[in-house]
Amino acid sequence: QSLSKSYYLGKQELPVLKGIDLDIQKNEYVALMGPSGSGKSTLMNILGCLDSPTSGKYVLNGHDVSQMPDDDLANVRNREIGFVFQQFNLMAGRTAAENVALPLVYAGVSRKERNERAMTMLERVGLADRSHHKPNELSGGQCQRVAIARALINDPAMILADEPTGNLDTKTSVEIMEIFTRIHSQGNTVVLVTHEEDIAGFAHRIVRLRDGVIENDRVTRVEKVLG
Ligand code: ATP
Ligand code: MG
Repeated sequence: QSLSKSYYLGKQELPVLKGIDLDIQKNEYVALMGPSGSGKSTLMNILGCLDSPTSGKYVLNGHDVSQMPDDDLANVRNREIGFVFQQFNLMAGRTAAENVALPLVYAGVSRKERNERAMTMLERVGLADRSHHKPNELSGGQCQRVAIARALINDPAMILADEPTGNLDTKTSVEIMEIFTRIHSQGNTVVLVTHEEDIAGFAHRIVRLRDGVIENDRVTRVEKVLG
């Protein structure tokens, strides 16, 4: 509600988000679009509890998290959010299974259970046979599937993905979007940023940002939202 975010360069204020009103319901499938620099990543970082707004309110799962101290916000993030990045952000020295299990290390889950849950998640993204590979032994699309499996492992309330297909070719992008679509149909809330209309077409609602405000917000697949 009335979400604003400014960055400060010295004393100079750079307003980036200028009063965003956005209501995303459970199990929505939203694509966030807009020109470069319009504030998409800034908004995603706030939605993902990686950053806080300068003013306005962000209510996540019924809790106002807008002014939370960083440590508390990190806890909310670990519990509620799965974040997928354009550059995958995998740990180079770790296997696919270890990367997927990483959030569980922080949650204090035993090694045995971590391995089992990581394998289940890798199966869900069709990568069970690559569990012992390190990122440099995987293709871009496979790396992104590992990242998606990692984002899912804590059973988060919301999956956020900032240009998840930005580094992938068209065919691989479609494969990744099919995974997001399946995740959504299994009951997850999915919000992703993309520059491509074809990719946005997988979502059920398209929100367009321009210069830090919402320019357009429309449901594109009514039957799925209602059904
Ligand atoms: P793109 O499509 O290129 O990824 P975007 O819509 O995601 O763009 P943001 O990354 O949200 O855009 O950036 C919005 C504006 O905020 C840009 O003008 C950018 O330069 C500025 N900005 C982003 N992060 C910072 C920061 N940490 N400090 C200062 N300015 C920033
Ligand atoms: Mg961005």
